[in-house]
Amino acid sequence: MTGWSQALGAHPGAAAGAAETVSGNRGLQIEEKLLFEQDSPGHCGVDLPEPAGLAPRLGGTERKGPIGLPGLSEPQIVRHFTRLSQKNYAIDSGIYPLGSCTMKHNPRLNEKLARLPGFADLHPLQPPATVAGALELVDTLAHWLKTLTGMPAMALSPAAGAHGELCGMMTIRAALTARGDPRRRILVPESAHGTNPATAATCGYAIDNIPNNARGRVDLAALKAELGGDVAALMLTNPNTCGLFEDEILDIAAAVHSAGAFFYCDGANFNAIVGRVRPGDLGIDALHLNLHKTFSTPHGGGGPGSGPVALAAELAPFAPLPWLVHDHGGLRLVEHRDGEAAQSIGRLKGFHGQIGMFVRALAYMMSHGADGLKQAAEDAVLNANYLRVRLEGALSLSYPGPCMHEVLFDDRFLKDTGATTLDFAKALIDEGFHPMTMYFPLIVHGALLIEPTESESKASLDQFADTVLALAARARGGDATSFHAAPRLAPRRRLDETTAARKPVLRWRPEPAQREAAE
Ligand SMILES: *Cc1c(COP(=O)(O)O)cnc(C)c1O
Repeated sequence: MTGWSQALGAHPGAAAGAAETVSGNRGLQIEEKLLFEQDSPGHCGVDLPEPAGLAPRLGGTERKGPIGLPGLSEPQIVRHFTRLSQKNYAIDSGIYPLGSCTMKHNPRLNEKLARLPGFADLHPLQPPATVAGALELVDTLAHWLKTLTGMPAMALSPAAGAHGELCGMMTIRAALTARGDPRRRILVPESAHGTNPATAATCGYAIDNIPNNARGRVDLAALKAELGGDVAALMLTNPNTCGLFEDEILDIAAAVHSAGAFFYCDGANFNAIVGRVRPGDLGIDALHLNLHKTFSTPHGGGGPGSGPVALAAELAPFAPLPWLVHDHGGLRLVEHRDGEAAQSIGRLKGFHGQIGMFVRALAYMMSHGADGLKQAAEDAVLNANYLRVRLEGALSLSYPGPCMHEVLFDDRFLKDTGATTLDFAKALIDEGFHPMTMYFPLIVHGALLIEPTESESKASLDQFADTVLALAARARGGDATSFHAAPRLAPRRRLDETTAARKPVLRWRPEPAQREAAE
């Protein structure tokens, strides 16, 4: 076997493909080979005459021979990609309860508006005077985001949450340097998303962890003990990655500020509090938002992200370029690092950022209205709590009491069953559900983090909960073996994830014999 089974490291005990049938197909699920494995040398989608009379113009750097692309007919390619698309599980096929990821419905209205030729066909190098409408859209989006966050400045160009973190931390570093007080430490709670310490390290800081308390929130006393004149910032997520609101956040902000440090907030979970809480009122100095989570732009293989950063007044002069500023009743574009933007950290991204995501996010906001956005947040919290109440008798809830938009369980309920969190997730795949987030956050053992989002109806939540409860009962009933064999019904059985991570096969190379035949 080449290709898939190698790349993904088929589990030695399990059939790599679908060994039960002669063809390897399972019903109408076709066993899919890599395009390189389907190669028929000489085949081509179109017949074009050999070009005649062309003289090389690349000064000797032109290609010497074939570059090893597979030969395929048009129907082969169409079938390949159609079949792959049918293997893909997506929010458009069913519930996708992946905690921390906010896999919510992407309204078709957003897509329709993003495809308007006036947005979709823009060229990034068009003169600004010809894209006034797009700039106005960018400014309107910034206005909504400033209103929702209660913060005075927005940097829209970062391309994702992690990129927004980088933007925020570079801005903080620039502000501290300008104060003549560069500092070297960043404090990060131990429940943080991995991107937080990674961002701080990328900016050259030393990272110190702050423990959580028994209620799943930051331990305020431990934080105070770590704060000092060398701390540049605290990076806190709120609601945090346990799905809990940091209820001592005002005291946290006061402590951070009295140490002369900045307060960075990871706002990836903003979807739980939109319209209810303005982060600016909590004393936050910089906060990234994930438009692709909170404001429903497709993500997870479905499209690029967008991670705008809200900045407090003291950080605004350091914001990345380009800026859009209001003067004389119009919008003015600031693209260079001089004059009013002399302290800017410069560009983080080509042009203005992911304009297609801006159109989608603004369409989502304007079609929901302020009241609709607030209701979406409330419904997301309601749905998570509905699942919490339905499941907490059978699974082990990590922190008692109400949660925000996601609910955290750990693997205590699987103790002595022989099944693990991973087994449980694989069994869910056989039942037709995308699993919840596993083993994150790291502060509880064998985490199962469930985020249903407001997209799901009660019927869909009940179907999910009934299945989870039945699997929990089966695990407790001593049927661990069936869990170890899962998934049995998916296109692939249990994969050897360790080998796949340690020895990834990232490029398929044709066998030498095949290569010679092709050349
Ligand atoms: C998703 C997420 C991020 C990273 O966002 P990306 O857009 O994937 O880069 C950071 N922090 C938290 C808490 C998240 O949930």
